[in-house]
Amino acid sequence: MDKNKECSVIKDLIPLYKDEALSKLSVEAVEEHIEKCDSCRKYKDNVFGELSKSGSIDNNMPEFEKREVQNYKNIASRLKKRRIRNALITAFSTVLVIMLFCSIFTFHKVLSGIMEPTIEMGDICFINKMSYKFSKPIEGDLVYLLREDPSFHYEFKDVGRIVGIPGDKILIKDGVLYVNGEEKQKDVYEYIKNGGIAKTEITVPDGKYFVMGDNVNISYDSRFEEVGCIDEKNVLGKVCFAW
Ligand SMILES: [Zn+2]
Repeated sequence: MDKNKECSVIKDLIPLYKDEALSKLSVEAVEEHIEKCDSCRKYKDNVFGELSKSGSIDNNMPEFEKREVQNYKNIASRLKKRRIRNALITAFSTVLVIMLFCSIFTFHKVLSGIMEPTIEMGDICFINKMSYKFSKPIEGDLVYLLREDPSFHYEFKDVGRIVGIPGDKILIKDGVLYVNGEEKQKDVYEYIKNGGIAKTEITVPDGKYFVMGDNVNISYDSRFEEVGCIDEKNVLGKVCFAW
């Protein structure tokens, strides 16, 4: 590139260089050039000195240079505004994404062994709270529940498995679970020692779900009279996975 052309390119870049709006490569090129070019170095000093002092332009500058400096000052100010705007947009979008995420998903740490071996004590469940806004739980779903302790009347959150949906007939006989007469989940449940309220066949009422823990012989669930079937409104979400 001939010297004049190169100088004119560098002078174009200097205001952006001052505003740190250049790529690393361009910064290197500008620095390398002003190192060896008196005219551009002077120009750079002018831009840096005058723009940073008060924003006023040196009256001894030739008219065209004043105009150029003013132009670059405008560009620098526009770039600065754009950077601020982009930073604000990024911050705002991040907050929005986090809020959206929290309104759809939640986490729950399992503090008991009632879902073992499917979910171990101490595992974290990832829960979709929107799962049942548009559809109903189905048999076999792992769900996140709001429960009330019957003796102390405080509410707590827990996980369990949907065994029966409204209208299903539940029977636990000789250690085996039957839903609508069909033997269920042989691979999940061991011999069920306590059939509870399902020792004789019950029908799950409308708007309720029969929920059990996979670890049937320590789980305190819908089989117990004080717990009973769980209200639809207390099924808070679906467990997507646990780890
Ligand atoms: Zn030059």
